[in-house]
Amino acid sequence: MAALIDGKAVSASVRAEIAREAAILRDKGMIPKLAVILVGDDPASAVYVRNKHKACIEVGIEPLQITLPAETPEDELLSLIDKLNSDTSVNGILVQLPLPKHISAQKVIDRIAPDKDVDAFTHDSVGRIVEGRYGFLPCTPAGIMKLLEYYNVTISGKNCVVIGRSNIVGKPMALLLLNASGTVTVCHSKTVDLPSVTRRADILVAAVGIPRFVKSDMVKPGAVVIDVGINRLPDGKLCGDVDFDAVSEIASMITPVPGGVGPMTITMLMQNTITAAKRAIER
Ligand code: NDP
Repeated sequence: MAALIDGKAVSASVRAEIAREAAILRDKGMIPKLAVILVGDDPASAVYVRNKHKACIEVGIEPLQITLPAETPEDELLSLIDKLNSDTSVNGILVQLPLPKHISAQKVIDRIAPDKDVDAFTHDSVGRIVEGRYGFLPCTPAGIMKLLEYYNVTISGKNCVVIGRSNIVGKPMALLLLNASGTVTVCHSKTVDLPSVTRRADILVAAVGIPRFVKSDMVKPGAVVIDVGINRLPDGKLCGDVDFDAVSEIASMITPVPGGVGPMTITMLMQNTITAAKRAIER
């Protein structure tokens, strides 16, 4: 039976450290501040933004929440980002995705100053990840790396398979594992005979967005299985991309959903905000 990778416990321990760092910054007269911009009234986005707000309060970061109507013109959003970029009291800027269709998400994200890009989605941050010259790390993959580190999972030399190639999860995840000297394979919807590829994985990361997609016959006995998926079932319950009950019978370690990767994502956002504040104080 697989051991549980407890994202809640790791997250609590990392957040306690972040709170200590925030207190030190406050003692030095720097109040770390995170601006979160929400455009429109997507209910899922509203929940994510609320959770970020709560996490800020918990660790001693000042949240600045800006909610704009769905019909906000792109220019107006870009001007707001310019204003926040030059506001020295703001350390991090996050634009909650998805944005309404008339706004180009990439244009908006790339307007964020690289030293305030706590989501690590700008071209500058992505380029640094490719080069292994880390500035800010994207929150979900960074949270997964933290979990692997916490549970002493060796990455170097291991076969790592990532299912999913999104810019937010799959691709940066693959790069972080590669930079940690894993032998990395990235799978996607066009991958032929997926189970034969995933069965080679010592570390398997599922970021697909399909409930219980990864079955036990896709997993090598003893593998470490990381489930990024957050899927809402018709009964309202959350479930991951991994068939948890069956896969836990053969994996050596596994993340649950909820309580695995999810709590780490916001924690790494808090970590990036503290990093941004520390860098600002050093400048
Ligand atoms: P995307 O929809 O952007 O990407 C899904 C990926 O899965 C794509 O690359 C797609 O391939 C691939 N895929 C789809 N079907 C198959 C298939 N049959 N076989 C193999 N690959 C397939 O999703 P995200 O990366 O944004 O998110 C993935 C999941 O993670 C979602 O459940 C999301 O809710 C969750 N998530 C969780 C977070 C957390 O904090 N825990 C944070 C972010 C996301 P192709 O490129 O060919 O279309």
